[in-house]
Amino acid sequence: MKRKAGQDRAITAKWRPATQAIRGGTARSDFGETSEAIFLTSGYCYDSAEEAAARFRGEAKGMTYSRLQNPTVEMLEERLALLEGAEACRVSASGMAAMSAALMSTLSAGDHLVAGRALFGSCRVLVDSILPRFGVETTTVDGRDTEAFRKALRPNTKAIFLETPANPTLDIVDIRGVCDIAHEAGALVIVDNAFASPVVQRPMDLGADIVAYSATKLMDGQGRVLAGAVMGPAEWMEKTYLAFTRHTGPVLSAFNAWVVLKSLETLDLRVTRACENALKVASFLEARVPRLLYPGLVSHPQHALAMAQMSAGGTILALHLEGGRKQAHGLLDALALIDISNNVGDSRSLMTHPASTTHASVAEAVRAEMGIGEGMLRLSVGLEDPQDLIEDLDQALKAVGL
Ligand SMILES: *Cc1c(COP(=O)(O)O)cnc(C)c1O
Repeated sequence: MKRKAGQDRAITAKWRPATQAIRGGTARSDFGETSEAIFLTSGYCYDSAEEAAARFRGEAKGMTYSRLQNPTVEMLEERLALLEGAEACRVSASGMAAMSAALMSTLSAGDHLVAGRALFGSCRVLVDSILPRFGVETTTVDGRDTEAFRKALRPNTKAIFLETPANPTLDIVDIRGVCDIAHEAGALVIVDNAFASPVVQRPMDLGADIVAYSATKLMDGQGRVLAGAVMGPAEWMEKTYLAFTRHTGPVLSAFNAWVVLKSLETLDLRVTRACENALKVASFLEARVPRLLYPGLVSHPQHALAMAQMSAGGTILALHLEGGRKQAHGLLDALALIDISNNVGDSRSLMTHPASTTHASVAEAVRAEMGIGEGMLRLSVGLEDPQDLIEDLDQALKAVGL
């Protein structure tokens, strides 16, 4: 495998994102294939016993086992690192594998973690139930209140974990403000950037140390594979993250890595268009439902902050109906085009009722505190013609008396 002459980091890091998304990380076999190859192999062979020994000693270059290295996976990692502006990237089997490995590799028994309270359902379970089982103390705060992060700090606070825009409440966290507070206290900031993607928000430019993704969402963007990614400084990746994942093995398959690699070629086009569609749909819904939250609309309580750290409003919006679960489920059941699905970031528009699906495993009191009511619906806007989406929502709203 080799890169085209001249395509080392010093050059590729200067490419603009649209170029990086298509060419970043590409390495070719001796066949010179134009499109990246899939290496479905678990292991590698050596020319001699001494060659094997030298690779295991780390003295000879080359791969040893696909839990540790794989050519297709490495192309994806390099492309993502370039897009994020990160020193290093490692991909994983799912977004939750990325989040759990980023947190578990960083934290040890006796450490304290502060997290924004509005998190993806499984991230909340990780923070509330799983990490404490291993002796990690955790505190959740209202992420909209930057000072709340400072107040929650303890002498043993090792990291702050946040998601913005948060799922599904669309709370916005001031990334730069929280990073300043964390860094004064010597804590790392880990940002789950799945809802924004690197096209819309670049947390490292705002001070974040680690950025993690569910690549299942906008990066694949066509609802096919699960994947995750973690990015950060090369030294942290080597000494902290890889020290954990080399031996726990949450790796991405080469096939799934290839699917995401090819999807990145259209990431910018897809995310830009989906954000434009979301703004049109949100503007329509705003006049029709009691409460609508979309970071790209002036009516979002944190619109100014959202626009200061995001280049667009994102692809997800939340609506609150007054008729509780009955009206929310009724609206979903009346949809003729938009699918009822808990996924997000697909080219298809998808709608779900978080209280009975994605956040059903979060205790009711916690849901209420997070702002996930029984009348809340989350809509992930895709790439269909926005007028068709508006017409579908219009007839479904009429069906439930709105
Ligand atoms: C989907 C999602 C995850 C989890 O990712 P999986 O790929 O489903 O494991 C984590 N965080 C956010 C914000 C998500 O949307």
